[in-house]
Formats: sequence, structure tokens, C-alpha cells
Amino acid sequence: MPRSILLRRCAALAAALFAAVAIPAHAAVRVFACEPEWGALAQELGGKLVDVAVATSALQDPHQIQAKPSLLARARNADLVACTGAELEIGWLPVLLQQAGNAKVQPGQPGNFAAADFVRKLDVPTQLDRSQGDVHAAGNPHIQTDPRNIALVADALAARLQQIDPGNAAQYVQLHAEFAKKWQAAIARWSAQAAPLRGTPVVSQHKAFVYLYDWLGMREVAVLEPKPGVEPSAAHLQGVLATLKTTPAKMVLYAAYQDPRPSEWIAKNAGLAIVKVPFTVGGSDAAKDLFGLFDDTVARLLAGAAKP
Ligand SMILES: [Zn+2]
Repeated sequence: MPRSILLRRCAALAAALFAAVAIPAHAAVRVFACEPEWGALAQELGGKLVDVAVATSALQDPHQIQAKPSLLARARNADLVACTGAELEIGWLPVLLQQAGNAKVQPGQPGNFAAADFVRKLDVPTQLDRSQGDVHAAGNPHIQTDPRNIALVADALAARLQQIDPGNAAQYVQLHAEFAKKWQAAIARWSAQAAPLRGTPVVSQHKAFVYLYDWLGMREVAVLEPKPGVEPSAAHLQGVLATLKTTPAKMVLYAAYQDPRPSEWIAKNAGLAIVKVPFTVGGSDAAKDLFGLFDDTVARLLAGAAKP
């Protein structure tokens, strides 16, 4: 290929790449979301008024990620940091925010939003003992598995967007009203579809689904991890298997980011259905947005329950 053509192609490619990564001029609010569900919610509530970057994917363990330089750059110029809170990101976010040195998004500032502050938390320990696990001392942080929690967080996040970008407040009010209406209708649909799951006894790999069970009336009879975040040993799995002989379960659930082997082992040995829960946006092909996340979660649970 002649060199001039090659150069022209390179220039065209560079221009295309620049266009793809350039921040649109009208994006008023730069949002740094810790998890995909809050990035998706900020997008629903901010539309073209926000530029959203998400720190983790559905296939990463949000309890522990590596704070890469690209994340630091995004935290440095963010107008709003939207995370779960309840200590979910305690292993990486405080250090990242400290290094970013961005006064707007430090804890206590309007630019720092913790979703878990706006819902009723489950599994709040009455006695704080770090030896009982590493990650859930402030109550269970996996609030996004109940769509009613998403609605509460949406109310608060919409208010926060109005606060930090008051010039566009009317548009945030409108986007929130549209989202809330669609979301309430979807909750009614999912709740009706999932009605057969009420009372279903289940096993969880990680204590990741307490809000999902609370919503759908499912019963957790065993957890594969001996403590939150601790991989189950063979001996511990044998103990769970013995428990299931007297307290049978229908299925075992694990999140998309987790190593499925403990769930596969218990499913095989206890004769359970195994359900991979997308857990957040991007956790399955169908979980393309928040609506797809719950469409797919309910469909997978019903499929698991229908297995003989
Ligand atoms: Zn957890």
C-alpha cells in the first residue's frame, strides 16, 4: 500500500477514535459510577445532560477492584461520584478519591452520592465483629437486586442531579417522572410474573441476594461462603450438603462475576437447579439496561424453579 494512502487512513482512524472518546460539548455533568447499575440509572435520569463513566463491569467483583490510572483520571474530573456505599467499595474507593484530590466528590459533598443511604438495609449486624466476614459490616450492600430499591435511589439521584446542575433542573424533573412511571409499571409486571417463586427455598453462593429474596418472598436456607467473601472449602460444602438433606432447596444462585464452581458442585450433589443471576447491567446478554436486568433475572429464576 502506498505510504500516502496509509497515512490518510491512519489520520481518518485517529479522527474516528477521537470522535468516539470526545466528551460531547453539551454534557453538563460528568458522572463516575462505581457499578453498572448506578451508571445505567444516571443515564436514565440524566439523558444527554450527563456523561457517564462506569468503574467496574458486571464481570468484576465490586468488593475488590484494582484502581487503575484510567479510573483515577475519571475520578479527578468527575462532577458526581455515584456508588453503592454501605462499605461495598471500602477496599478501593476511599484511596481513589483521596488520590484524585477532587474536592467536589469527597464524602459529605453534593458530588458524592451513596445509593445505600436511601434504602432500608437488611443484614445489619447487631454486633460488629470483623472476624465474621470482611465486607458487610454496614448492612448488606447488594441493594440493586430489588427494583423497589432502584426506585428509591432514583428519587434521590434525580434530586442530586438537580442540586448540582440547577440550570437543567426542569429537564431532570421530567426525565425522572418518565422513568418512575415506566419503572413502577415494570415492577408490577415483574412481581406478577415472579409470584410462583414465593416461598421457594434457595441456596446462595454469596450473601448477594437478600434484597431479591425480600422482594419475591424466596427463602434462603443456606449460603455456600462460610463468611461473606470467603471461598467455601470442601469441608464447608459437605456441611451445606448435609444441611440440605434435612432442609431441601430448589435452586442455587450465584452472581455473574463469581466463579461458578461452588454452585456447580452443590447443584450436582444436592440435585438443585443452578441459576446465574446477571446481578447488574451487563451481567448477561439480555441485561442491557435496568429493565433488561430484571426481565432476565425473573426469567432465569422462573426457569430454575420450573426444572423438575
Ligand atoms: Zn457482598
